[in-house]
Formats: sequence, structure tokens, C-alpha cells
Amino acid sequence: MGDLRIVHPITVPNAAVPAAEVVPALQGLVNAVVEAAEMGKAISCRKGCGACCRQLVPVSRTEGERLLQVVEAMPAERREVLKARFAAAEAAIEGGGLTERRGRSDRELSTAYFALGVPCPFLEDESCSIHPERPLVCREYLVTSPAALCAGPKQEGVTPVAVPKVSMAARRLQDEKDDWFPLAMLMAWARTRSRKVERRTGPEWVQRFLKRMSSASS
Ligand code: SF4
Repeated sequence: MGDLRIVHPITVPNAAVPAAEVVPALQGLVNAVVEAAEMGKAISCRKGCGACCRQLVPVSRTEGERLLQVVEAMPAERREVLKARFAAAEAAIEGGGLTERRGRSDRELSTAYFALGVPCPFLEDESCSIHPERPLVCREYLVTSPAALCAGPKQEGVTPVAVPKVSMAARRLQDEKDDWFPLAMLMAWARTRSRKVERRTGPEWVQRFLKRMSSASS
């Protein structure tokens, strides 16, 4: 993987399971890649700095399913709070006309989304309330530039750490219509998602992931 050499044990169920069951193993793998990439660098990201949590966070179907499980396991009152936040985020994104790409490039879409200032529904006191379960792409985003720059409208001067985007391999791990959806649209996505559950053994899912990783980097 570029100049990085990662040795990381992966533990997954041997039984045939839905893809979401192997997400913890993928999280561990991404953590290992990020740790190697950030080694020796002065990272500015700190708990309580959530400027980047207003960016468009692309999430794959597999991660979306895992996040729904995480929300489902929360106490009812906490789920209600999240439900309200997701509804507010959806309204803002719809109001901003950003539920469809409409010919925009990824960059244009990201800039327009950030301009809306929609906080991630999981953001609390400017910190991630699901930190151990946060999406893979959130783990891969670290900067070495002053934290204040992250709040700029175009994030000018922000210097992200060059972390290999392993998270991309989670896209289309299953049979899915779209590569990704915005994390803030998790509940909207859940309402129309496919309920067809594909089961494979843990090692089979990981092999698919690794194959997608190597084809993305070749
Ligand atoms: S999941 Fe957590 S880290 Fe990712 S954008 Fe939301 S609050 Fe931030």
C-alpha cells in the first residue's frame, strides 16, 4: 500500500453473516493504516473540534447497515434525539437542493454541502458521539494544519494527512445501487434501502474487501 507496510491480524466470524458483521474488522484495518500514515506527524485534530463533521461524509451500504444497528442498540430516548437531528439535517439538505448531484463534480458537491453548515447528527459538543463506531472515512481524515482553517468555507490551507483511502473498498461490497450516500441522510436512505440480505462467511467478505482495495490501488 504505497510506502506503508501494514501487518494487521483480522478476526471475523467463520459463519455466513451479513456484510455489516465484518465492519468492526474493517474498522480495525483502517485504524492500523491510519496509525501507520500519521506516525511522526503533528496531528491538529482534537476532541471538541468538529469542524470537519460538517463535511459531506460518504457512507457505503455496508457501513450504513452497521450504523443502523448501532442506533438501534441505543436507549429509546437517545434514538429520539438522533431522529430529530437526522430530520433537521435531511430538511437542510433538501432545502439546499443537494439530494441529487445535478451534474456537480465531487468537489462542487462537497463545497456546497459544507456551505450549508449541517452538523453530523452524531456530533455532540463538537465531538463524535459514536467515536468507536464512526465511519471508515471519518477515521481517514486527519490534518496537520491549524484547526481553525478547517472551518473556512473552502478549507483553504488545510493539510490533510495522506492516508490511503481504504474506506473506498467498502463501496459496492454488496449488491448496491449507489456507491455511497451522505451520512446525514442515513435515516432517509434506511427508508428506501434494499432489505435483501446477502450472507457470506467472514473470510469471504474480507477477501472481497481486500480485492477491491488492491484493484483500487493498482
Ligand atoms: S460520525 Fe462522528 S466523526 Fe464522523 S462526521 Fe459524524 S460526528 Fe464526525
